[in-house]
Amino acid sequence: MLWVCLLLLGCKKTTPAATQARFAFSADSAYSYIDRQVALGPRVPGTEAHSACGEWLMSELRRHGAQVKQQIGSMINYAGEEQDVRNIVAYMEGTSSQAIMLCAHWDSRPWADAEEEYNLRFQPVLGANDGASGVGVILELVRQLAILKAKGEAVPSVQVVFFDCEDMGTPTHYTGKQQKDDWCLGSQLWAKEYKQSILNAPNTTPKIQYGILLDMVGDPSATFPIEYYSAMYAASYVEKLWRIASQLGYGRYFTYQQVYPITDDHYYVNTLAGIPCLDVIDYKANSETGFSDWWHTLRDDMQNINKQTLKAVGETVMTTICSK
Ligand SMILES: [Zn+2]
Repeated sequence: MLWVCLLLLGCKKTTPAATQARFAFSADSAYSYIDRQVALGPRVPGTEAHSACGEWLMSELRRHGAQVKQQIGSMINYAGEEQDVRNIVAYMEGTSSQAIMLCAHWDSRPWADAEEEYNLRFQPVLGANDGASGVGVILELVRQLAILKAKGEAVPSVQVVFFDCEDMGTPTHYTGKQQKDDWCLGSQLWAKEYKQSILNAPNTTPKIQYGILLDMVGDPSATFPIEYYSAMYAASYVEKLWRIASQLGYGRYFTYQQVYPITDDHYYVNTLAGIPCLDVIDYKANSETGFSDWWHTLRDDMQNINKQTLKAVGETVMTTICSK
């Protein structure tokens, strides 16, 4: 009889619900992590708010036991000028054989260039959803992983990267000669250096199985369709994450609609670093821009951040990375 029990135990499949029951992702905590960033004001590279936010992010990651460093560099911006870049990179050693990357951009756009009124287009956006939401959810995931690890449970090793200068692509009011690859400067820098360090120091560079990018994950009516590059480069992980979302009852957010390529940080993680990386991005096929009405406007503030959406994303990602 004993061997039958052992056999049954051995074959027992962990369901997403069982994995979900191991942790308590707090939407309140994720919300306050977003609020904390937004309270500093627009985190536009080169400003005091940006610098203060960077310090706070590093200290928060350290508080949860991560090894944290910043990657400082320079990239060419949309106008052909040098742009300082400050990525925040953290590593948490896990207790399972899995190694995953969680990433989001932490800068906010210098220009609200989707505003109807021309004069408003030169003001910076607060980036509650476009920037702070992905970072806030990841900070809460890191907090949850630290709790699980302290309990002696199996957790994956996690490479966190908060990319700078994602949102510095050519503003609509610019009329000069435009550079290509003008968005996602931080991820381009990180991906190139990661590739180089895999070649130069293969034994000391963490190997990453796949990455998850979170971008605009706090909107009350968020929908996360399957974006083209995610399906192209990270199909099996897309399949896994969207299946888990549906099993957890979050199918209304994670739809199976397929949408055209979106240039976001995951594109460079896939193509320059060679890490399969999917993008959880709120895309609205019926809107004029493809995004929320307040995207790249002065209304991208805390009023449009919803705890139910944060919970759906947080629980789905946590369950995905904690199950085989
Ligand atoms: Zn943006």
